[in-house]
Amino acid sequence: MNQNDYNGNCVYLIGAGPGEPGLMTLRGKELLEQADCLVYDALVSPTFLSWLKPDCKKIYVGKRAGNHAMPQEEINRLLVECAGKYACTVRLKGGDPYVFGRGGEEGLALNKAHVRFEVVPGISSAIAGPGAAGIPVTHRGICTQFTVFTGHEGADKAASELDIEGIAAARGTKVMLMGMSRLRETLAALMRAGQCGAAPAAVVQWAATARQHQVCATVETLADAVESAGLAAPAVVVIGEVVNLADSLNWRKKLPLAGKRIVVTRTREQAGEFSRRLAALGADVLELPTIRIAPPSDKRDFAESVVDSPHYDWLIFSSPNGVKRFFQAFFAVYEDIRELGGARLAAIGSGTAAELKKYGLMVDVMPKKAVAEELIAEFDRKADEFGGVAHCTMLWVHSEQSRRVIHDELMKRHAIVDECIAYSIVPETEDISGNAERLRSEGADLITFTSSGTVRHFMDLQIPVPPGCRIASIGPITSATLGEYGLTPDIESAEYTIPSLVEAIVKRFS
Ligand code: SAH
Repeated sequence: MNQNDYNGNCVYLIGAGPGEPGLMTLRGKELLEQADCLVYDALVSPTFLSWLKPDCKKIYVGKRAGNHAMPQEEINRLLVECAGKYACTVRLKGGDPYVFGRGGEEGLALNKAHVRFEVVPGISSAIAGPGAAGIPVTHRGICTQFTVFTGHEGADKAASELDIEGIAAARGTKVMLMGMSRLRETLAALMRAGQCGAAPAAVVQWAATARQHQVCATVETLADAVESAGLAAPAVVVIGEVVNLADSLNWRKKLPLAGKRIVVTRTREQAGEFSRRLAALGADVLELPTIRIAPPSDKRDFAESVVDSPHYDWLIFSSPNGVKRFFQAFFAVYEDIRELGGARLAAIGSGTAAELKKYGLMVDVMPKKAVAEELIAEFDRKADEFGGVAHCTMLWVHSEQSRRVIHDELMKRHAIVDECIAYSIVPETEDISGNAERLRSEGADLITFTSSGTVRHFMDLQIPVPPGCRIASIGPITSATLGEYGLTPDIESAEYTIPSLVEAIVKRFS
């Protein structure tokens, strides 16, 4: 490669940070979005994968249950190979690429092969790990230096190569990475080398993520404390007086849903807002999409009814998805929202109304409670205002799986109701994130259901509700569907909205 050629293929060694996607750098995210090929490790959140272009080649080189990771020499070769094929190859690593990340070796190998590379630093667990548990690695008046070391020596090195005496004698905070499998031995070796056994010490597992757990003890008692708490890798070990600050500075522990694992069963597209709210309150959110929004089986019929939509007196929207799909199709045909004409609008659910508002459209009829029966009652109540529905032409935009209530009741009232089937709800069969597996093996504190469809499809997955796990429902219809399976929700949202459901969950857990 010509060293001045900055348009050629490039490999980016990117630090992903300690786990939470929000803790990656903006530069890292930007490059992930452009990547043609991704080479990645364990400890990298599945959320990162959702940022990739759909055709990005993904190559996993980390450990899999029972299997070893790809040997480093092979990874080096692979990166060179990828650089030959792809304009933008991203090599994504946990934390920072240069802190026990072998980023240096990869950089040297790329140099040798004359492949251009760039490094994007990441937040290292060595600093953010203790910090996430309320342990600052330095603190004025307590310590003025910190040491980071590895507790796991490469197989080709003798364990004694670690400068145990030097670490034991060091002042300030000591942070050990990769130290969990030999924690007891390493701490004992440090004490033999003069480390004070009474010094405060802590272990922080899954630091800076919602799965975080920590124990604080002393160097002498830490191994036992960790064992009885059942903590294991990935975890950082911290030794030093700064550990005493953990109680006051651990803000994460104070969040109302801290330590609660909550399953979200919405579609991937819809889970966002709900998951974000729960995560912000400290919950460990397992997104388990049980359903997916798919095009309706009769696409032609859908397209035709959208084309005809400007001729109706009323448009009725049953869901936010219906609004989205409808307008996608609408703007494929018409350029101007005014083509829609002067139809009145009815909607079920404030989310649906909010979706309409994005197009500057206000709803004329919306029931307080987001159920079909209430919409009909609201039409009856408001009949004087607009002369009732008899002989009105109405287009009802909904999913293939909707109940018939709206159609049947409006027909009874002599309205002329046409249907616009905008989408279909189909089961999600892939477990891309591995969350279905996590739910099976680790259990959860709460499973949430935001529609009857999510209940039915969750049941189809045949994952048993873990013992002691609670159930939350967004409203009476969803609760009734749960009842069909012999389940009673412990939490039911007051209103059919995500904020209301989140409120009910917080109330229940506080
Ligand atoms: N380059 C990484 C470290 C890689 S070595 C960094 O800068 O963070 C892997 C070790 O990092 C693990 O054994 C564990 O000690 C630590 N680690 C990484 N992510 C962690 C996390 N979220 N919580 C606790 N420890 C973590």
